[in-house]
Amino acid sequence: MRLGRIASPDGVAFVSIEGPTDDLTQAVAREIAEHPFGTPNFTGRQWPLADVRLLAPILASKVVCVGKNYAAHVAEMGHSETPDEPVIFMKPNTAIIGPNVPIQLPADADPVHFEGELAVVIGRPCKDVPASRAADNILGYTIGNDVSARDQQKKDGQWTRAKGHDTFCPVGPWIVTDLDPSDVEIRTEINGQIKQDSRTSLMIHDVGAIVEWVSHVMTLLPGDLLLTGTPEGVGPIEDGDTVSITVGGLGTLTNPVVRKGKS
Ligand code: MG
Repeated sequence: MRLGRIASPDGVAFVSIEGPTDDLTQAVAREIAEHPFGTPNFTGRQWPLADVRLLAPILASKVVCVGKNYAAHVAEMGHSETPDEPVIFMKPNTAIIGPNVPIQLPADADPVHFEGELAVVIGRPCKDVPASRAADNILGYTIGNDVSARDQQKKDGQWTRAKGHDTFCPVGPWIVTDLDPSDVEIRTEINGQIKQDSRTSLMIHDVGAIVEWVSHVMTLLPGDLLLTGTPEGVGPIEDGDTVSITVGGLGTLTNPVVRKGKS
């Protein structure tokens, strides 16, 4: 199932997106009553997907990210050793934006990098989840962009400011509930040019290990997002660019880039 959240002339709603995945002009958005967790109830209303606007597919209480989770990215960032245990940090939920919403580069941050990532969407409240039970607590998967102000990341010595700006967490376009995330392509294009092209099988800590690690620290709630790290090939985004991240089986998340305060 593909779960999304839309703005239609009738308001904002969670939906199931149905129809061919290769021809979105034929797809419809079927309204889900209340929320998409558990077995969804449908209201009976639906719209052609082309007539609605896709929003960030979920409302998250928090976004927990894994850093340094692909060896080739660790190397390109100048680190000689990969971490034995997952390195985690958080982005505020106010950084989340949906597909096609502009990433706003702060006037005082340069360079700002894209980071294409597989994102896990938590499906129910959980704590101390063993890796073997991770799937029971996952609603599905979507695409995330861990936008990062590299100058602030270096200067501050920790990452809250660098990773926490409004618009620095694009997610979408929807959640796929039946994806096997163990070995899918992850590809990022800037203005149509491929910058990252890797596979999730190259993660150092896989989805099960990440859910176990994070849920040992904090209770996870329905809708919470876990960004699983970025592969090699990160680089700067500039005013006027278009970032497109494609993950096999999930589709493509596209966002334009604007420089804030530019006249
Ligand atoms: Mg990242």
